[in-house]
Order: sequence, then structure tokens, then C-alpha cells
Amino acid sequence: MAKINDNYLKLKAGYLFPEIGRRVRAFAEANPTAKVIRLGIGDVTRPLAPAVLKAFHDAVDDLATTDRFAGYGPEQGYDWLIDTIIEKSYKPLGVELKTSEMFISDGSKCDCANILDIFAMDNVVAIGDPVYPVYNDTNVMIGRTGEADEKGYYQGVVYLPCNEANDFIPALPTGKVDIIYLCFPNNPTGVVADKAELQRWVDYANANDAVIFFDAAYEAFITDSSIPHSIYEIEGAKKCAIEFRSFSKTAGFTGVRCGLVVVPEEVMGTTPSGEKYSFNKLWLRRTTTKFNGASYPVQRAAAAVYSEEGWQQTREIIDYYMENARIIREGLTEAGVTIFGGVNAPYIWLKTPAGMTSWDFFDKLLTECHVVGTPGSGFGPSGEGYFRLSAFGNRENVVEAVERIKKNLK
Ligand SMILES: *Cc1c(COP(=O)(O)O)cnc(C)c1O
Repeated sequence: MAKINDNYLKLKAGYLFPEIGRRVRAFAEANPTAKVIRLGIGDVTRPLAPAVLKAFHDAVDDLATTDRFAGYGPEQGYDWLIDTIIEKSYKPLGVELKTSEMFISDGSKCDCANILDIFAMDNVVAIGDPVYPVYNDTNVMIGRTGEADEKGYYQGVVYLPCNEANDFIPALPTGKVDIIYLCFPNNPTGVVADKAELQRWVDYANANDAVIFFDAAYEAFITDSSIPHSIYEIEGAKKCAIEFRSFSKTAGFTGVRCGLVVVPEEVMGTTPSGEKYSFNKLWLRRTTTKFNGASYPVQRAAAAVYSEEGWQQTREIIDYYMENARIIREGLTEAGVTIFGGVNAPYIWLKTPAGMTSWDFFDKLLTECHVVGTPGSGFGPSGEGYFRLSAFGNRENVVEAVERIKKNLK
């Protein structure tokens, strides 16, 4: 009989969102008239910007003609999209990239997982806690870890706790690691790192020949002009960092699917014989062999995000979510809740009142306020005692949810 990849058996069962679903269903069945407001899952709710939708439609129409029909495109994405992103999104930051350094994909989750293909198994990986679970679980699946301990920490991984004491920005690893996952603006905590902070990480990486995986899925939500949008705004980052971006949260593409990876040519690893080798070359090889490109209409729609009209409309949607974030932040603060994030990110990370556990607070909010959020402990052991609310809901619901919580906690 064929043998399974038993690394998968080390994974804790996908517990967080199924358990939330189970508790919400049980409550709704017992209380059929309650209007439950969901501020839990990190998914967008606003429709695509009209200019983006038009480009999407037009590209589908192209496929109905013989002269504009598009078959296989370049596996790593069309130059017209890559060059547009470099010009409109990186140049204004003072970041110069070559077309060959950017790869278009069908989303960032896959990219964060697939990038592990081009790194040797015996690299030591450092991961934040709490964290976007994909970073951890994909390392388990590929076989880089041992078993999980009772806290949920996997053997062989260096965890970097993020808590109030360090403002949810991890301390540098005390030993040498080879790969570091950073996500700013952060999911789930909503905090950002300033230039000085990121410089420390880049300096560590360059001093230790480590590679930083920088997840910038939420860069478009940054409102403070001093906060970097890209790791490449930091001196020395092009030698050590791979950046992930996504159209999912930026432009409402969670159901459309488009993301990108930047792998600068200068990011080097070593061969078994100790020679330097470019990760860009390996990633190109991997992409052209295992992927056949994001779809043509999707890439057309993505390019339209950067048209004048498309960006203005996209910006309005981001502002809408960030106004939700403000309403949640200010309302909860009034209710005496200690909150983090929500200024440069669509997530509000709150400290559960009276030292409640994350799940106890979840049950309290659900049963007393009919509001659903996400228990912080679901993102890692250091998330215990915290709770995430998402600003991706519609305005009316957000306002009502905040009113209910305020009344309840006052
Ligand atoms: C939503 C999200 C992504 C983007 O995922 P897609 O696959 O592009 O939809 C990446 N990283 C984090 C931390 C996220 O929250």
C-alpha cells in the first residue's frame, strides 16, 4: 500500500474556525431570533471596485475573440502587470525592482507555503507567536519539525513570542536561525513595525546569512506615513528578504485570487559545497515547472487596481474598512477595553477583560452580545488572553456590534 506523508499526522486538527462555527451554530439554533454579527474571519465584504470589475469583464470578452484570445501566459506573470506594480507600488517608495524579480501568483497563502520548496530541510525557522497559522503548519507538513508539545509548539521551530511587554514585536532570536517569518501590518495583532525595527531584523539577517519572509498582505492599510510598506525600504533588505503581497485584502480579491512574490536577485543561499546560489533562479525554475500562471482576466483585473480610477475606488474601500476599525477602537476604548492595532491594519487585538481566557470571552461576546470574534489563543499560545476583531464587516453591523459590546461591558 502507498505510504502517506506522515508529517501531516503531526498537525493539530484544524481547530479554530471549525470550533467557532460549531459554537455559533449551537447558539443560533438555541436562539433563532438573535441577530448574530460576525467580526471573526478575516475576509473582505465589499464588492470589487467598478474599474477593476470592468477590466475583468473586458478581459473575459477578449477570450471570446480570435485576435485577443489569451492561452498560456508566462508562468511568472505578464510583464505588463509586473511592470505596472513596480512602477505604481514600489517606485513611489524609492524601491527599484527588475521585472525578473517579481512573480505573479494565485494568492499569497500558496506562495508562503510553496517558497519552502527552494530551501533545504535543515534550515532553522523562526516564527512569531501568535501567528498566521500557514507559516507554522506548512513547515510541519514539509517535515521540518518534530511533534508538537502540549502548548502547541513544534520541536525544531524557534518561536518568537509577541506580547504586551514587547509591544507585539518579537525580540531577535538569541541563537542563529536561517529563515524568519515577519508579517507587518500583522495578522492577528494589527501592529506595525517602523523602519528602525525592521532595520534590526534586516541587520540580523545579513549578519547571520538568514532570509526574511516578509508578508506584506496588509500594507495597503497603513495610514501612518512613517511606516514602511515594503521591507525593501530598509537598507540591506534586497540581500536578505523575500516579500509576499496579495490583492486579497488590498483590492477585495479573496475570491478572485492574485498575489505576488518578490525575490531579489541578490538574495543568496549556499549549495552543499558552500557556493552561493541565487534563490531567484530557483524560484523561477520552481514556478515555471509547477505553475502555469494566474489567469489572464485576473491579471487584467489586478492591473486595473493601479489605474487612476481603479486605485481611487480601491482606496475608498480601504478607507471604509479603516473607518470601521476606528469605530471599533474608539468604542472599545470607551468601554474600558485595552486594545492594540487597528490604526494601520484592519484588525483590532484586544486584551480580554478581567483576565478571561480567549474562549471564555468568545462565549461571553456570543451569548451576551451576539457578536462573533476570534479567540487569540487560536493563533498560538501567546495569544491566550487576547481576542481579534476584524474591521472587514459592513458599517451598520460594526456600529451595532460596538454598541452592544459597550453596553455589556460598561
Ligand atoms: C489574508 C492573508 C494573506 C493573503 O492570502 P491570499 O492567499 O492571498 O488570499 C496572506 N498573509 C496573511 C497574514 C493574511 O492574513
